[in-house]
Amino acid sequence: MKGTTLAATVPPGPYSSGGNPAPPRARPGAHLLVGAIDGHVHACPHLNGRSVDVFDAVEQAAAAGMRGIGLMDNFCSSVGYAALARRRLGHLGVEVFGGVILEPQVGGLSVDVVRAALALGYPDDEGRNPADGARFVSLPTHHTRAVAMAEGRDAAYIESCLSIPESGPLPEALARILDLVAEHDVVLNSGHLTAPETIRLVELAKASGVTRMLCPANYFTPDEVRALTALGACAEFSFFFSTHATQVGLTHVDAEKHQVEPVTIPRLVALVAAAPVDRVVLSGDCGVAVLPPPVEGLREFLWALRLSGVDEDTLRRAVGDNPARLFRLSAPG
Ligand SMILES: [Zn+2]
Repeated sequence: MKGTTLAATVPPGPYSSGGNPAPPRARPGAHLLVGAIDGHVHACPHLNGRSVDVFDAVEQAAAAGMRGIGLMDNFCSSVGYAALARRRLGHLGVEVFGGVILEPQVGGLSVDVVRAALALGYPDDEGRNPADGARFVSLPTHHTRAVAMAEGRDAAYIESCLSIPESGPLPEALARILDLVAEHDVVLNSGHLTAPETIRLVELAKASGVTRMLCPANYFTPDEVRALTALGACAEFSFFFSTHATQVGLTHVDAEKHQVEPVTIPRLVALVAAAPVDRVVLSGDCGVAVLPPPVEGLREFLWALRLSGVDEDTLRRAVGDNPARLFRLSAPG
């Protein structure tokens, strides 16, 4: 039977071309995606369902004219996925990079895990893989004392999580990992620590020779963002924390469901303003099914910030020059 299709009944509008979704580049703010890098994309294969798989993420980024994406996974290294995507989809012109988050499921604060992540890829006959290997090493994002306390975990669980001491040396394994990060000149992501912990970590990492540092700072105060960036670290602000995804109980490391505090867009605008323009990195942190796919999430974020007073030059640097420099992306074109 011939029926009336949805496409025939929906009139064309600003978001519609005869009922089909408009191509991404036609949406408000889509021009800000051209040349952009989202260093914080979660994709399948994954422990939980994700809105895209790795190849989808690359193809959608290419369709929007993006320059690069960084794959993040809390439960396994994303280095191999990134290397595979570069090899299979390199012709699309999106630079894909991966790294390792040192959650317990990945091996925890293990020097061996970091060494393997730095070496993984398609080595040449002499064992070199200049394009592959981890571009970032992240401290835990869930298994930290700060997150465990916010989640109301029990004392034994909290005790098992990472915290950065107020004084004295770092745990031996972490100190050795910082040395490896410095030696390989990759990004240290501070994970989800408190602001005082993050600032102390950055001081100690600098002393170990680490020069590339990215610190999630959505919950920090403007003064804490100023202190962090004055030390040479970049502050990362992510769409996820401004969205309804914060209000939905999500499973992370186990069967428990947890919500996190939302951060308003005006609050993020104030935090962006507190950092020097060359020390701000904006990202999507999309992948959960309650949010749009990563490319659309980044567009919504950039457009919301633009409408809230962040100028285009700042936005372009925060998703362009700054992550490109930090993650050592090759020159465009
Ligand atoms: Zn994330």
